[in-house]
Amino acid sequence: MGKDSKPDDTSSLKLYIRLLKYLKGKTGHLTLSILGFLVFGLSQPMLAKLMEVVIESIEKQDTDARWLLPAMALGVYTFRGIGSFIGNYFNALVGTGVIRDLKLETFKHLTHLPAAFYDSSTQGKLIHNLNASVKLVQNTITNALKTLIREGITIIALVGYVFYLNWQLSMVFLVVAPILLGLVSLAAKRLRKFARRSEKALGNAMQISKEMISNYGLVRSFGSQDYEKARYERAVNKSFEAQLKSRKVGALFTPIAQVIVSCAVASIVFLLLSPSILDQYSAGELIGYLTAIALLPKSIKQLGGIGVTIQQGLVGAEMVFNLLDASPEPDLGTHTTNSVQGKIEFRNLDFKYPKGKQPALENISTIIAPGELIALVGPSGSGKSTLSSLIYRLYEVDSGKIFLDDIDINDYKLDNLRSHIAIVGQNVRLFDDTLRNNIAYGDVAYSDEQIADALRHANAWEFVEKLPLGLDTPVGENGLKFSGGQRQRISLARAFLKDARILILDEATSALDNESETAVAKAIDEITADKTTIVIAHRLKTIQKADRVIVIERGRIVKEASPDQILANSQELSRLEAMLTPTPDQPG
Ligand code: ADP
Repeated sequence: MGKDSKPDDTSSLKLYIRLLKYLKGKTGHLTLSILGFLVFGLSQPMLAKLMEVVIESIEKQDTDARWLLPAMALGVYTFRGIGSFIGNYFNALVGTGVIRDLKLETFKHLTHLPAAFYDSSTQGKLIHNLNASVKLVQNTITNALKTLIREGITIIALVGYVFYLNWQLSMVFLVVAPILLGLVSLAAKRLRKFARRSEKALGNAMQISKEMISNYGLVRSFGSQDYEKARYERAVNKSFEAQLKSRKVGALFTPIAQVIVSCAVASIVFLLLSPSILDQYSAGELIGYLTAIALLPKSIKQLGGIGVTIQQGLVGAEMVFNLLDASPEPDLGTHTTNSVQGKIEFRNLDFKYPKGKQPALENISTIIAPGELIALVGPSGSGKSTLSSLIYRLYEVDSGKIFLDDIDINDYKLDNLRSHIAIVGQNVRLFDDTLRNNIAYGDVAYSDEQIADALRHANAWEFVEKLPLGLDTPVGENGLKFSGGQRQRISLARAFLKDARILILDEATSALDNESETAVAKAIDEITADKTTIVIAHRLKTIQKADRVIVIERGRIVKEASPDQILANSQELSRLEAMLTPTPDQPG
């Protein structure tokens, strides 16, 4: 057996109990559902009883029964129909309600998980876990719970009835019960193992398809379609094999269980037909008894059929609970303030990514004055993004401290700290929503005038104004309808509107056409005017505008100087140029 094949019964029980907690507040509906299925279940022995009465009436040639019996049958079926409706409807109400709660809770939790959590998984796996797991749980709750209650009640009612008719004979069932239970537990273990394996493979398949879809251009340019197809096929086949194995276990379980129950039924028939027993009962009573035991294998078959669904549901629950059990970002600070001056101090800062081998930053110490414009320069991978991300506590610092206005950033309430910082990334992220909602991103309600004003400051109003739908223009996935320069100006408008005292700007490395370049540069000047700004600079022009240049190499600050000092030193300048993106504004 593989590593993933150790489902122990205690963990199943824990999962069940934890899932049951989601029924809190829904017990009224659940009770109604159980009552409905109870009515439905009870109608089964009633049908057996009806059979008994029919036979007796035939034996007695009772013509009065001509009216009574059809009326009774109609009554039983109406009773059964009402029970079925109430059972199904309230079951659906409970099931879909639990799923809604689980989805909301998981999504909410995901929004609070630390960056390190996202680094440790792939987006495809997370999306698969979020959706598939809830779907699996939903299947269990709506379909399996329904069958479990309905058939469980039916079996209890039928077994109760046959014990009531003749308990000695019915003892045979007590012999087969432990055999059946053993079989259930064996099948359950196998089913869980295969369900886990299948879901893991499906998570990988989701990641591969996500990568292929978002990099479709790259896939075509490298002609790597076959490579991608093979990768996807491997993952899907793995899941297919696991699912097939689980279906096999499920498909084997049902007939085996039925044969075992049939053995019990056959033994009872054998005993029933002994002269001593035949003497004691009327034909009607015997047929009633036989009808009741003959109904049992069907219910057992139905119960066996949901085994796969239940085990898949438990694997789904495991996946959801794994997400819910991941610790959210620590937020122990209590300090809040409406505004900050914007002084930032790094003091003896060391940092290593949880998964990184080398420290990403070492012994960083520097003070950034309020309103200062810092150009952060360094080769790719030197730690510039890491340093700026630590200011808004994307990761927890290992040793050393960062202060904002002389207060440790860990002492701020996380929301409050982040409300003072606006970030404009290199790859502009836009959401599939209207332009208005993309710019006024978040909870705060801004007026159209404020949004237009931000767009004007970001040099973006000129093209937004010309759009037929204006601020209501749908942006589309990742804003691909807009040019690179336009997207950057939209994201600058977003930062402007947030009006945070501190701005972290990762300058785009991709070259823009001259017109966009000038428009973006103007927008940046406008927005950084009165803010403490850290620009991860890729252009010489940006460096020239800075108050101070900080050069980082291999996680360490190697130089801090004014742009003039750096630009005056030709050796220094050529070293710096080698680190920058070659764009038309650079000499040479
Ligand atoms: P820069 O912004 O200067 O290009 P980064 O700050 O992105 O550099 O990266 C600094 C170092 O940290 C690099 O060695 C990089 O490989 C590593 N690194 C960056 N992000 C992560 C991460 N999420 N997990 C592990 N290592 C990372």
